[in-house]
Amino acid sequence: MTAAVNYGGVTGLESLEMGAARVQVDDKKIINCRADLNQLVPFKYKWAWQKYLDACANHWMPNEINMAADVALWKDPHGLTADERLIIERSLGFFSTADSLVANNLVLAVYRHITNPECRQYLLRQAFEEALHTHAYQYVIESLGMNEAEVFNMYREIPSVARKAAWSLKYTQSLGDPNFHTGTPENDQRLLRDLIAFYVIFEGIFFYVGFTQVLSMGRRNKMTGTAEQFQYILRDESMHLNFGIDVINQIKIENPHLWTEEFKKEAIAMIREGVELEYVYAVDTMPRGILGLNAEMFKDYLQFIANRRCAQIGLTQEYPGATNPFPWMSEIMDLKKEKNFFETRVIEYQTGGALSWEDD
Ligand code: FE
Repeated sequence: MTAAVNYGGVTGLESLEMGAARVQVDDKKIINCRADLNQLVPFKYKWAWQKYLDACANHWMPNEINMAADVALWKDPHGLTADERLIIERSLGFFSTADSLVANNLVLAVYRHITNPECRQYLLRQAFEEALHTHAYQYVIESLGMNEAEVFNMYREIPSVARKAAWSLKYTQSLGDPNFHTGTPENDQRLLRDLIAFYVIFEGIFFYVGFTQVLSMGRRNKMTGTAEQFQYILRDESMHLNFGIDVINQIKIENPHLWTEEFKKEAIAMIREGVELEYVYAVDTMPRGILGLNAEMFKDYLQFIANRRCAQIGLTQEYPGATNPFPWMSEIMDLKKEKNFFETRVIEYQTGGALSWEDD
């Protein structure tokens, strides 16, 4: 009796062999696995399955959030300052295409190279969450009656937004090539590079100026519906980031030869580039300082976050002494859905139905 072996295909089992040996935990590997990928159990990476369960327990839908106060404020000519409007417009401009870039990278580049069913189960959930996030931005843009063409083209028209998108694209293009296969140290490092680019920098650094700005407006009772959408998205995103970090670390454990001194230097250089691009975005979106926020505070914050990202994947911290000017952001990331920060709270999720909302 021979084991069910995946001969290098991407679907996990290229032909069905009756009576092949059953998959054992030790047959499982996070990349370059040769065992049947269609069998979820026995679990090897329990953290991946747990994250899938946690993500499902956090389910939400964008159209269940009340946008009426935002619509009134946005349409009131005296409702917001020009600087506040700029923040909302730029945030929607960046994020409305950013989550599509992440989703396309997941589905078209990363998914087929992560050769483990419990990780793929989380990736499928994450891909759906990216769709929900794009849905949320579209819903806000539509509710506010914004110029859709202008917002959705910002990633090709506004330099501070475009540079972040352009930076990430080269990593996904490298893997999206149908002729690309893992299995050599060079190609396995290309996969690791894509994972670091998208999980650690794109979702782990590039989202944080916009999230902080919009959530800060919510804390001041402005654009509370939009802020609530961002709050749910941030909670999902912090789980995407943590999953990506676990995947990167698991690949390192199983393939220590990939984590060379040269590769570590490259990863640190990528993180430094990410901090610089995000700082440029902070300056561009806050030309004057606003709501007790200014670009200098974001320099500290981005360096603080970058230190955490370095530590999370086992790199030395690049910005010693950086401090966090926004400790309230960490509280929001850990928020449970039944204890909402803003006006309403979710009391129960009903599968196939709507969330129930109750005034505080
Ligand atoms: Fe994400």
